Amino acid sequence: MKSALVVVDLQEDFLPSDGSLAVKEGRDIISPICDLLDLSKYNWSTIIATQDWHPHDHISFASQHGVPPFTEIEFKHPLGHKQDGETITFTTPVWPDHCVQNTFGSSIDASFIAKFNQLDDQIPKSIIRKGYLKDREYYSCFKDIWKLHKTEIEDELTKLGVTDVVFVGIAYDFCVMHSAIDCKNAGFNSYVVKSLCKSVVPENDDKTDLSYTEKGVKVLQSVDEYKF
Ligand SMILES: [Zn+2]
Repeated sequence: MKSALVVVDLQEDFLPSDGSLAVKEGRDIISPICDLLDLSKYNWSTIIATQDWHPHDHISFASQHGVPPFTEIEFKHPLGHKQDGETITFTTPVWPDHCVQNTFGSSIDASFIAKFNQLDDQIPKSIIRKGYLKDREYYSCFKDIWKLHKTEIEDELTKLGVTDVVFVGIAYDFCVMHSAIDCKNAGFNSYVVKSLCKSVVPENDDKTDLSYTEKGVKVLQSVDEYKF
């Protein structure tokens, strides 16, 4: 068994108080997540950080559609793929402009990066970017929502012989969730540590928990429940 830790989107735009899409209490999880980088306590084979990385005119921005942020929009499959004669659609909110490439808002929290860099070459580590193709939303760090474009993460985990992947970060109900489900679908054992995540809509966490478990992702309350 080989375990990977994936830290999702600890980026300034998702963090209070100034992030354009700040997730409530998002900074509270940074210090405990940094503690997970202690290799004398946790037997990770690799640690991966993900980074939402959008062009300035990304399709997920409300500003591109002339609607207020958080409006739900129905997107049509870019290749016109159909199911039962109907074009496949994906309905999702559009967001305030966020994580625009090379802006401060797209940068990963400095305290985390400092700790991450201190790992030197003790284990393989990498930063996986997503969301850089302008014409499609990516919540998952594995694929865009249409499952047409894959990032490098799956090949990287496979190359390292990883069997089990533990997710933490932001947001529990969007990017962490879609990443953990795609991870399970890619054939890995997939876990999420709920206490080390924050949600855009925490009121829906019970429903979100079900979305994980229905797709075969194990929800852990604390990392202590994870057996290396
Ligand atoms: Zn985004």
